[in-house]
Amino acid sequence: MGIRENLKRLKEDLPQQVELIAVSKTKPISDLLEAYDAGQRAFGENKIQEMVTKWEQMPKDIQWHMIGHVQSNKVKYMAPFVHTIHAVDSIKLLKEIQKQAARNERIINCLIQIRIAKEETKFGLDASELDSLLSQGKEMPNIVIKGLMGMATFTEDQSQIRSEFKNLADLYRKYSSFEVLSMGMSGDYDIAIEEGSTSIRVGSKIFGERNY
Ligand SMILES: *Cc1c(COP(=O)(O)O)cnc(C)c1O
Repeated sequence: MGIRENLKRLKEDLPQQVELIAVSKTKPISDLLEAYDAGQRAFGENKIQEMVTKWEQMPKDIQWHMIGHVQSNKVKYMAPFVHTIHAVDSIKLLKEIQKQAARNERIINCLIQIRIAKEETKFGLDASELDSLLSQGKEMPNIVIKGLMGMATFTEDQSQIRSEFKNLADLYRKYSSFEVLSMGMSGDYDIAIEEGSTSIRVGSKIFGERNY
């Protein structure tokens, strides 16, 4: 099955309010162009250098989403063009995004990553730390904190995935200023949408399995 067909099928089943971010990490430009030609404009990458290289080569009306963990010292490379940074999880990073966005005279959208999974390895902020980050973020003129992002535990247990997404959605709904809830990947986006996701990050279901 080709990329165009995969996209078409995916989109047919998506509720209208749910945005699809095509996660193109590790995939060649030719694959991204195929998705672009099929109408896809939001792409997600998890490595800054790779995203910069692709941004240079791809048409300029694409919205680039940084979905991976970000080191503060690399923000400057994507600040000229990145649309949304999904995995903000510290005040240090938020400050650096503000600084680089200002330097580029841009507004950069940020999502705060909340740790919802049981796994130790997943990045993210504790829900209890959110208020303090938000109040500091309010003072930063070049960033907009649009909402939250989370990744469920990698498990076959659907009820666990659902309860993790439910927790994140409950937190999300407490803040009237939020408009983006980024949750759901190829394996769990249907559950995520049922629980209120507004933005799904789908890679392998569009582009096929990744070879690292
Ligand atoms: C790779 C990745 C995805 C997409 O994963 P698939 O299972 O291929 O859909 C989504 N979100 C993040 C943060 C990722 O790193």
